[in-house]
Amino acid sequence: MSARSSPWLTWLSPLLLAWVLGNAVQLQQAQLGSGLDYFWPLLGCSLLALGVHMAWRHPAFVQTQRPHLTYLGLASAVLSVAALAHASVGWRALHYQQGQLPAQLQGIDIEVTGSVLSLPQRMADGWRFRFQVTQAVRVDNGAKVDIPSTLQLAWYADDKAELQDVPAIRAAQIWRLHLRLKQPHGLVNPGGFDVELWLWEQGIHATAYVRTTARNAPPVLLGYAKEGDVAVWRQMARDGIQQSVRDKRWASVVSALLVGDQAGLDSADWDVFRATGVAHLMSISGLHITLWAWVARWLILRLWRYSDVGGRSWCLTLPAPYAAQVGGLLLAWVYAVFSGWGIPSQRTIAMLATVCVLQLQAVRWPLHTQWLLAMVAVLLIDPWALMQAGFWLSFVAVGMLFMGQPTHAPPAAANPVLAHTQWQKLKGLGRYTVSLCKEQWMISVCLAPLCIILFQQVSLVGLFANLFAIPWVTWVVTPLAFGGLLWSPLWQASAWAAQMLHAVLEPLSQLSWAVWHSAAPPWWVAAAGLVGAGMWAWRWHGLFRSAGLLLLLPSLFWPASRPPTQTVELLAADVGQGNAVLVRTAQHSLLFDAGPRYGSESDAGERVWLPLLQRMDERLDMLLLSHQDADHTGGALAVHANQPQAQILSSITAEHWLGNTLAMTRCAAGQSWQWDGVQFDIIHPLASDYDKRLSPNARSCVLRVHAQGQTVLLTADIEAFQEQALLERMGDDLRADVLLVPHHGSKTSSTQAFLDAVQPRIAWVQAGYRNRYGHPAPVVMQRYADKGIPVWDSPRCGAMHWRSDAPTQVVCERDVQRRYWRHRVP
Ligand SMILES: [Zn+2]
Repeated sequence: MSARSSPWLTWLSPLLLAWVLGNAVQLQQAQLGSGLDYFWPLLGCSLLALGVHMAWRHPAFVQTQRPHLTYLGLASAVLSVAALAHASVGWRALHYQQGQLPAQLQGIDIEVTGSVLSLPQRMADGWRFRFQVTQAVRVDNGAKVDIPSTLQLAWYADDKAELQDVPAIRAAQIWRLHLRLKQPHGLVNPGGFDVELWLWEQGIHATAYVRTTARNAPPVLLGYAKEGDVAVWRQMARDGIQQSVRDKRWASVVSALLVGDQAGLDSADWDVFRATGVAHLMSISGLHITLWAWVARWLILRLWRYSDVGGRSWCLTLPAPYAAQVGGLLLAWVYAVFSGWGIPSQRTIAMLATVCVLQLQAVRWPLHTQWLLAMVAVLLIDPWALMQAGFWLSFVAVGMLFMGQPTHAPPAAANPVLAHTQWQKLKGLGRYTVSLCKEQWMISVCLAPLCIILFQQVSLVGLFANLFAIPWVTWVVTPLAFGGLLWSPLWQASAWAAQMLHAVLEPLSQLSWAVWHSAAPPWWVAAAGLVGAGMWAWRWHGLFRSAGLLLLLPSLFWPASRPPTQTVELLAADVGQGNAVLVRTAQHSLLFDAGPRYGSESDAGERVWLPLLQRMDERLDMLLLSHQDADHTGGALAVHANQPQAQILSSITAEHWLGNTLAMTRCAAGQSWQWDGVQFDIIHPLASDYDKRLSPNARSCVLRVHAQGQTVLLTADIEAFQEQALLERMGDDLRADVLLVPHHGSKTSSTQAFLDAVQPRIAWVQAGYRNRYGHPAPVVMQRYADKGIPVWDSPRCGAMHWRSDAPTQVVCERDVQRRYWRHRVP
């Protein structure tokens, strides 16, 4: 039976596509409906399909009318499938939502008993791990409480204690701990990573940290759970690697490849892998497991063919291709489980299993149907995968390969003539290399628009780097890492192999043209780029392919949008507890503070600002660091390293380490400049204030920006005394339309007199969700409310946008990207 003669196979592709679309539409919902809201469209579509089907079978319809009815039938079937996908994802989401942490259990001490679920990640300042809860009671009244069963937990060393005082956390340990829980809340910035979706996808409805104050009972290790076998093996493997490999840096690479533990990888090494486009090899991604399945399949095929032991070949029991397909899939599954069974691994196994089942069938399915079926299989496991970059990268890469494949040519390796003589063997190898290069070239070109859309950068050296990095990691580094499980010295060999790869990649990453950056294109340019890539990959007429290339190019060269002349634009990013505001004019930009540090390993500079600045293709003219406190300067070094041309203006003096590290000019009242018709003035501190012994807060640089009759006041952390001084000095000149609430809404600031003088129309607070300082203080917010001044805050708003040419409008990023899995602060 051929593919084309089977009518249901022709129908299958539109139906599969309908499933994907129905799923995609559900993911756009800002809010979940009720269970019935999903049921009615499904019922309606199904009744329509049933009606058409009955009409088609009715003898009253003559033969000539049937074709019309067939199309109507297909349309109603497509609608029904889409409605079914929509409803099934909706119902699943409703079920997930029931597992949420009740808001009243946030911020109180809860005694929890449970076990360490996964391989714990060691951070410089503590541990991070998943925790499976078996019992939870309130510490204050001993009442049992219902909390989510899986928690994302952090155990930090106290301010006073050293990390050594925190016990070593190991997989499967059972602990009794005092915890403080929080609903999952992430930073929401344009194009930023969606932490809330990531936790939702994994069924994690609360994050928590371990309380170790004097008032809390000390943590108790109760024993080891029996069911944590895989995690225990992974733990043993990671310990073994740490012991066998001398250099911890390369031990981390081997651990990343074998047990999927990327947390130990050096951030500088990540930069090298990213710039050379091979980062996908270091995380257990779709490609990684697929390649491992191929290696396993190839080995099993060889083993089966030469299994003529004792006159009885295994091939007689089970044909070699079958054994190779099934064995390859099984070994890929083992690898996926051993590497932590993360969401990307689960997706890949679903995809591989689908392809494996199809290939074992006698029916030869059209490639696009296989592709769509694999996609639906993945979406059945994880409907939210459609929102993930990794999903699209792997499916587009595989899809492009399918399109480029000649439909019925036999694979080169299966051609028996090729292996005749040594010369021909060599020729075969040459042909294989050429086809490998062609495939790599095609994937690189086709993924380019996708990479620009998702990451605003494409690795240009990635084409060459992947040509040897993929085989090297697949055939040398990873097998040696696996070999280490049997004979531990092989781990050292694997580490050397990783080190050699790095030695080749590093100079490539240093090349000035290694990475192509571009601003994020609007959706219609992005869509045209993807269609163009598809047309280019299609094996068709040259003219058609050139047209594809023309469609593709704009997405790679799209210029960033900028505010018009005379206009000023604010982007107050969601950085958590700290200040950071990007001020842009037609040709210039200034970053007012760089946001906080998030711990010893990351800060707002590298996590929020570098991706944002890259997305906007922005070159900073000035970095203004209002004062030395870490919630304002935590990201400064990362921003400076990436934007060394930016001049630094600050109140930080040379006594502070940052003042010694970076070259900076003192800010002082009286400094002013104009950019593209927009006036900038520093109004605090006075030059003479530097001679006084003032607190860092009191010396905060205060910036006033004036454009199109609108005034913006960025106050950093000034307190009541400085507010009073400004008032006395400036009087009515202090009036402003937009105010960054001083000191994150602390009780120390926003005095009545100051608010009366400024009279802002719009105010906003940059503070972290449930931060430990209680910012913004309710009494201060009441003061704003009494005066009728609306206040926006970052936990509710996410990143905030404002422009002087639409002065009444405040755009919250959480409203722009409102989705049902997003946390809503009451
Ligand atoms: Zn502050």
